[in-house]
Amino acid sequence: MIVGAQPAPPRGLYLHVPFCRSLCPYCDFVVVAGAAAFGPRSRMGGYLNAIEKEIDLRATLADKTFGTLGSASRQPLETLYLGGGTPSLLPTERLAALIERVRDRFGLAPGAEVTLEANPGADERGDLRGSVQAGVTRLSIGAQVLDTSALRTLGRRHTPDDVVATVAAARSAGVTSLSVDLLADLPDLPFDAWAASLDRAIALGVDHLSVYALTLSLGPDETGDDRLATPAGAVAWRERAAAAQDEERGAQELEHLNSRLPAAGYDWYEISNWATPGHASRHNTLYWERASVAAVGPGAHAFDGVTRRWNSANLDAWEAALQQGELPPGGELAAESGTAGVAEGLVLALRMARGVERDAAVRDGFGDAIAWGESNGLLTQHPTDATRVQLTLRGRLLSNELFARIA
Ligand code: SF4
Repeated sequence: MIVGAQPAPPRGLYLHVPFCRSLCPYCDFVVVAGAAAFGPRSRMGGYLNAIEKEIDLRATLADKTFGTLGSASRQPLETLYLGGGTPSLLPTERLAALIERVRDRFGLAPGAEVTLEANPGADERGDLRGSVQAGVTRLSIGAQVLDTSALRTLGRRHTPDDVVATVAAARSAGVTSLSVDLLADLPDLPFDAWAASLDRAIALGVDHLSVYALTLSLGPDETGDDRLATPAGAVAWRERAAAAQDEERGAQELEHLNSRLPAAGYDWYEISNWATPGHASRHNTLYWERASVAAVGPGAHAFDGVTRRWNSANLDAWEAALQQGELPPGGELAAESGTAGVAEGLVLALRMARGVERDAAVRDGFGDAIAWGESNGLLTQHPTDATRVQLTLRGRLLSNELFARIA
């Protein structure tokens, strides 16, 4: 698919909530914690006023660019994703007001997916019943690992029991789609302990599991935005942790996931994501499909099919502009177009189980890479659609080698 020259109206909206109880040393998200998040010097009130203004300003811009909500060219959002940070720390009535504002200005289609990221600690998961009443349909729980000592190593505040309690509370609150985030390739965690943690996660009976290898950025930030430099203590922690990671053990874990999760009823639908039927993340799928997704909040990144745009990650700068009634500072970059754009789309599509149409990829000039993937056991025919190819298990383990031949 060639990326069109025209921007497309948003199908999803990402809303960034930057507050956390404390900072985890491996975290690269745009986060403020401690006194900036709670107590008399909390930035929460100013943030909430500013984000409501940004929702209004971005919606007005969308009205001008794509037509008013409800017109043929401007459909209500299919997804809203409140990510962070720890969005479950928002006071329930303010969460409800934010969702209402998005519904009012951007629209939320019937059956829209509304995801809230939550941390499992008793003082972090928030009022889950109130969140459901506010319109949340999907909860994404940042568990990371269900092993007490590994959680301590990671600097997390919660315990495995907190994860169990949060899942139970979410179910009893009526959350219809429940996801748990896990990490692989953790420093100093032997394979058996990691596999036991995975079994504990499976026993929770949630609808969706994401498992990403722990990535420790040691060099300069490459996101393009102006987030704060990593604190020296976190840099030292990362250096120690990186030395305690083990590529072979990480690959063994990935291989284990790909046999253990399907046996437990989870289908892989993207390299790092597995779901029971009907529970794939619709919001994240928009990113992998290179669809148009708007974004609000400090450091939030948006894409309209033509341009990538991001907000300043500096809470002061972001908030000050909005208080003046102006859009926050940030940056933008024309997305890859032409062959490079097609290559980017192909790589994203190949991450997903549905794979790509083989003939179309060959026509677009990627025949050599596809043939290389097939002859080296990284690509195979899709099991239910002979016109498509998808990654094999080996391909999921070695995807970067194939993607380097495409991009
Ligand atoms: S809780 Fe999540 S967002 Fe907050 S600092 Fe830790 S990893 Fe980052």
